[in-house]
Amino acid sequence: MEVLAKAQAMERAGERVVHLEIGEPDFETPGPAVEEAVKAIREGHTRYTDSMGLAELRGAIATNLRGLCGVDIDPGAEIAVTSGVSGGLFLALASVLDPGDEVVLADPTYPCYQNFIRFLDGAPRMVPLVEEGFGLDIDRLQEALTPKSRAILLNSPSNPTGMLLEKKELRAITEITGERGIYVLVDEIYSSLVYDRKRAPSILETGYEGAIMLDGFSKLYAMTGWRLGYMAAGAEVIEAVRRLQQNFYICPSSIAQKAAIAALQCRREAEAMVREFDRRRRFVAERLRGMGGLRVREPLGAYYVFPDVSAISRDSFALASRLLEEAKVAVVPGRAFGEMGEGHLRFSYAASIEALEEGLDRVEKAIAGWSSGPSRTPPL
Ligand code: PLP
Repeated sequence: MEVLAKAQAMERAGERVVHLEIGEPDFETPGPAVEEAVKAIREGHTRYTDSMGLAELRGAIATNLRGLCGVDIDPGAEIAVTSGVSGGLFLALASVLDPGDEVVLADPTYPCYQNFIRFLDGAPRMVPLVEEGFGLDIDRLQEALTPKSRAILLNSPSNPTGMLLEKKELRAITEITGERGIYVLVDEIYSSLVYDRKRAPSILETGYEGAIMLDGFSKLYAMTGWRLGYMAAGAEVIEAVRRLQQNFYICPSSIAQKAAIAALQCRREAEAMVREFDRRRRFVAERLRGMGGLRVREPLGAYYVFPDVSAISRDSFALASRLLEEAKVAVVPGRAFGEMGEGHLRFSYAASIEALEEGLDRVEKAIAGWSSGPSRTPPL
């Protein structure tokens, strides 16, 4: 957000900045979802809904999960529709945490998680991912658990690393948490933005009693502004979430819920978007690989490439600032995602191929300039 604010200030001063820091799809919401929302307004679906969400939407979500993950979820008792995954995360964490409880997070990870946990007087505990490839080391995870551990919160596929958890890893996690009664929350918002299969494995597939799965419409259906997500969990957690939702929000937007029912039918539109992201993913990874010693791993999911830039600088904040000031390209410093993110930059490919090309040309030129100047002194 700081990078975006600085980039916008530069634009107000007349500079042309290429935005590779933004984490939302540059596509339009599918037409049928838009039409359904307009129809919903015209037909008067403008009132409060059930606080768990419309029964029709919950049913459609359960059907979708059955088709994609092969799981049987009771839409009446095990699904809650929420105001985005963000709203769902807040309600889920508020339901399971008591003050002082610890929540284990991966490092690097989506930065808001720590803020949610601290706000609820919980304590985030970071588990460093394996530096090479950002995989989750189950032994490290086990070491991070204490008698105060109440939950583990993971993101798969991951923002910022683009890596995902395979089913056997999810199983291994639930094997250690099961004995201790620890909840396993998995933010699966990028689950269908994957490039070698239809959907990333879900925590629901493990059948774990303490699983809380969060997904939503923001990314796959380009509906970030509609603010709609959902969670699937055991009936007790959902009942606690229902009580909180009823008090704090009453219900998610009725119009967005109607649109979401139509969005779930828009597989063709979603698949076309994923194909375009795939093209960009390969393009960005390939271009970055050719630059000044950057180490690049092709992401398996989401729309971020997270190269190791330590051959240029370990200070990702300084490097991102310098790229913004000199190359006029906005990217996110890896340090924003945790200590293990240091030495990396996050490039989002939720931008047109033309914007990506121009941005990467500028980055390449800047890096080449730093390494071939007369003094050959490192830039930072
Ligand atoms: N979780 C992750 C990992 C994200 O990257 C984002 C947005 O970038 C969100 C949640 C927010 O999702 P929503 O728009 O559904 O609140």
